[in-house]
Amino acid sequence: MLTDNYAINVAHLYGDLMNTYGDYGNIIALNYYAKQVGVTVNSQLISLDDAFNADDFDFALFGGGQDYEESIVAQDLPRISSEITRFIENDGPMVAVCGGYQLLGEYFLLADGTKIKGIGALKHYTLNQSDNRFIGNITIKNAETGEEYHGFENHQGKTFLSDNERALGTVLNGNGNNGTDKTEGVIYRNVYGTYFHGPILTRNGNLALRLLKIILLRKYPNVDWQRKLANITPEFF
Ligand code: GLN
Repeated sequence: MLTDNYAINVAHLYGDLMNTYGDYGNIIALNYYAKQVGVTVNSQLISLDDAFNADDFDFALFGGGQDYEESIVAQDLPRISSEITRFIENDGPMVAVCGGYQLLGEYFLLADGTKIKGIGALKHYTLNQSDNRFIGNITIKNAETGEEYHGFENHQGKTFLSDNERALGTVLNGNGNNGTDKTEGVIYRNVYGTYFHGPILTRNGNLALRLLKIILLRKYPNVDWQRKLANITPEFF
């Protein structure tokens, strides 16, 4: 019997510098579910000076990092920012966590107030807090699905969404984007930005399966992924 060879190619953007609390686990979680529907996950690290071609990838992970790593990455990003923007505008699925989420936006302020330019692919911006961090467990509810997501946040940056961005969820417990407007994270096209570590896809199997469906339908639109994925049990931690 012939079996189809399905594979998704993952770009792990700056994974050697941006990997707070093991954000790489998001790829491990995708792999865990992908295997169950016969899909191979190939992951490639794209770091300083590496080429990035949007057409080569089906999913991108951009993890979190501290201010120092973020400033180094911000200096390298202009080289590939138009390709990252093209990936996003072509509905490329992406998870961006904390520092990675901040870097996709217009700009952010380091804890010391230094302004760092983001790539501006998304229109949010991030201000600083002089004497505080948002640290702790967080729970949100996604408005479209009613799903709840659990995670752990640790950031000083306060992010504000623009009009063409919607929140990943409404904060039930914790601080979220900025501690005031009850939003957490962002959804823009197929980009999921968040302050959640955990990592988010490991702790929230419902979101991992939702994202995997988006990735697979975009790459292999003629396969009934809805049916195949319906048999998979999401894991929660
Ligand atoms: N440096 C950023 C902040 O504190 C990002 C932190 C992170 O990625 N965990 O806001």
